Amino acid sequence: MKIICIGRNYVEHAKELSNPVPKKPVFFMKPDTALLQKNNPFFYPSFSEDVHYEVELVLRICKNGRHIEEKFAGNYFDEIGIGIDFTARDIQADCKKKGLPWEIAKAFDQSAPIGKFIKSSQVSDLSNINFSLKINDELRQQGNSRDMIFSFNQIIAYVSKFITLREGDYIFTGTPEGVGPAKIDDHFEAFIEDEKLLDFNVK
Ligand code: MG
Repeated sequence: MKIICIGRNYVEHAKELSNPVPKKPVFFMKPDTALLQKNNPFFYPSFSEDVHYEVELVLRICKNGRHIEEKFAGNYFDEIGIGIDFTARDIQADCKKKGLPWEIAKAFDQSAPIGKFIKSSQVSDLSNINFSLKINDELRQQGNSRDMIFSFNQIIAYVSKFITLREGDYIFTGTPEGVGPAKIDDHFEAFIEDEKLLDFNVK
């Protein structure tokens, strides 16, 4: 199982980090050891002093495929959930400055909490999904899939040109604006529409 993450997929988020708006999807990966499930606590890593949250819609791949055409891409995922792409922003900034890969800032253990998933067939319009993140009961991020630069189907078509997708893989589809630092003792709750799908604490 692998986790593919799309970067800079919302214009306002690309702007808040002073990144250019991409012409093609930007993606990177996290290993299976990054997954954090069952609402288990996230343990703040000792190697960073600036771990940021990024709330994202997550697709679960249901069928193996490569070179998937955009028009068939909808057949390759069957569930949608919500996850946090935890990012050691201090380490990432250093990697970017040196032109180095970001892995240590993005792929560390527990950097990909995911919650419950819902069947994509239950979602009436995949291009109009509201999602949000509350921390300590305060709304911190909210987004809608209509604001993605690259749609779910475009992402699947693009990524599968390079990397075979397998049943059970996850795709994090990018974060809207409003990212910020996580703190020890924070309580995270993430929602698709009004349904809470993820709930965990930072320790
Ligand atoms: Mg992200």
